[in-house]
Amino acid sequence: MSEKLLALVTGASRGIGRAIAERLARDGYRVIGTATSESGAASVREALKQIDGDNDALVLNIADAAQTDSALKEFLQNYGTPRVVVNNAGITRDNLFLRMSDDEWGEVINTNLTGVFRVCKSMVKPMLKQKAGAIINISSIIGTTGNGGQANYAAAKAGLEGFSRSLAQEIASRNITVNCVAPGFIQTDMTEILPETQKEAILATIPGKRFGQVEEIAGAVAFLAGNDAKYITGQTIHVNGGMNMG
Ligand code: NAD
Repeated sequence: MSEKLLALVTGASRGIGRAIAERLARDGYRVIGTATSESGAASVREALKQIDGDNDALVLNIADAAQTDSALKEFLQNYGTPRVVVNNAGITRDNLFLRMSDDEWGEVINTNLTGVFRVCKSMVKPMLKQKAGAIINISSIIGTTGNGGQANYAAAKAGLEGFSRSLAQEIASRNITVNCVAPGFIQTDMTEILPETQKEAILATIPGKRFGQVEEIAGAVAFLAGNDAKYITGQTIHVNGGMNMG
């Protein structure tokens, strides 16, 4: 049986989630990363096991209530109760409001907001018994500023922050913190697909004059996961190079 503290990181197949999983693994957690397919999970497993053989991966689709429930039941049976849960998985389905379909709205709310609710539903009860833990939800600057073409995404991320503050208040007395990390514009596959002109326009709004790196989000998550952040709960840490949030 591993002596390490257990961490679950959703959406660890690439981007920010992969960087968080690898950072927590290097910090000495036993990390279980998730991916949406068997082949994705195999690649997460291989990457995390290179850091330590105790790490592992599983298939999780947070958009599917039944699959999430059964995968996380299996997680609890196989690995135990997590000390750290990072809800990183997320999607975009951008469109201007008048063109946005019910499906585009629903998919983003179902994944980015309800998906986190589902993961927390499975994890909070055992964590309450453990009387220790940190839940870290990956939000976005768009949850604060809004963004034309992303009404669904902005609503989900703003909702995620309200959800996190509420859950934080419910479980603070059991020594479990719930916080958000809100990235600005980070170089990943999610942002790579944006047109060059849009990237240039975004760059012009960043006082730091560069896009963020995934490791910079992982650093904020590692801080919130650790003992130095025990008295921080219900908060959002913005990691965005000083972007104006007015
Ligand atoms: P990405 O698209 O590179 O990775 C997203 C991850 O989520 C992938 O591993 C994917 O498999 C997983 N995922 C998608 N749908 C899922 C589902 N239904 N169930 C489980 N996993 C699912 O994105 P990224 O840029 O690394 O973003 C990670 C998080 O950071 C997201 O929540 C995103 O909203 C947020 N974020 C990103 C940026 C940025 O600039 N990249 C900015 C602000 C916020």
